[in-house]
Amino acid sequence: MATFNTQSGMGNQPTARNDPDMTLTVKCYCGAVVQTDSEDELVAQVSAHALSVHDVDLSRTDVLAMANIAEG
Ligand SMILES: [Zn+2]
Repeated sequence: MATFNTQSGMGNQPTARNDPDMTLTVKCYCGAVVQTDSEDELVAQVSAHALSVHDVDLSRTDVLAMANIAEG
């Protein structure tokens, strides 16, 4: 059993957040897109956008929950 697809367990974890090649993207419901390669930067930019444009105070957890993480 479990002899198929033996390569798929590596480098395929969506929670890996320290990959320097990753891109973090958040698309706001208003259409604004924030794209960074750093989690801290993403949180800063998205929370600033939400606060200034929508008067919503997003937590780090909220921002990360909205984020799409793409490697490349
Ligand atoms: Zn927005």
